[in-house]
Amino acid sequence: MNQVLIVTGGSRGIGAATARLAAEQGYAVCVNYRHNQAAASTVVEAITQSGGRAMVGDRPRAIAVAADVAVESDVVRLFQTVDEQLGQVTALVNNAGILEQQRRVEDIDAARLARVLAANVIGSFLCAREAIRRMSTQRGGAGGAIVNVSSVAARLGSPGEYVDYAAAKGAIDTFTIGLAKEVADAGIRVNAVRPGFIDTDIHASGGEPNRIERVKASIPLGRGGQAIEVARAILWLLSAEASYTTGSFIDVAGGK
Ligand code: NAP
Repeated sequence: MNQVLIVTGGSRGIGAATARLAAEQGYAVCVNYRHNQAAASTVVEAITQSGGRAMVGDRPRAIAVAADVAVESDVVRLFQTVDEQLGQVTALVNNAGILEQQRRVEDIDAARLARVLAANVIGSFLCAREAIRRMSTQRGGAGGAIVNVSSVAARLGSPGEYVDYAAAKGAIDTFTIGLAKEVADAGIRVNAVRPGFIDTDIHASGGEPNRIERVKASIPLGRGGQAIEVARAILWLLSAEASYTTGSFIDVAGGK
């Protein structure tokens, strides 16, 4: 059976590295994104060119699909598009995530909380729901694997930066534990990676593009990480090599 992977937020950063590595390992990949179509197309083209072929049988090896994971109708359309164009989904990486300008809790309003929780938490729930409806052996599916992209922020709390984002990732950790137990007998494994200090654009969204330079002395390995280093952990958790691993976490944060 073909392995079909959906990577939410697969157009940049950790998601893009995951999409490319998965394609190298033989997955057909859906690169989801929200706004940046050019970045998503670049990932799809890189996949198509690196393998020397655009199709596996009559199906493409990679597609880009715009959908805001925080919007339920977008998520439903995302999964329907994958059904039609790639076939039955076997793997999901809930990677799409946002943070906003560094700010103390006393200065955070409800509108921001709603945005941060919607993109990071509600989006992961909705995508998992659609994946489970297709993967569950209790619903006629063939099983599958889900990896949630949490953060070491869930442990560290991100004081003075974005406690709202850290709390959203704490919710993702609890979601991972509960969902793993809930769908274990439906042939679905659910795990999480907790990255930290990875060199991507997300730090610019917090208003500090050079954040890793500031904090790197406090990281035991003494440097920031690269997106590919997170992607490798994600791909292992998705793979048959992790067949007895569910409800687990891999921290990819240089020992912090
Ligand atoms: P990034 O470089 O900012 O990329 C974010 C990706 O998510 C983009 O592809 C973006 O698409 C997409 N996205 C954002 N909101 C979306 C939405 N509502 N619906 C669909 N797609 C959406 O981020 P990153 O650093 O790679 O982070 C990826 C994940 O790792 C996030 O969950 C983040 O919290 C987590 N993480 C990152 C770090 C780190 O140090 N970088 C550390 C811990 C955890 P568009 O470009 O189209 O908006």
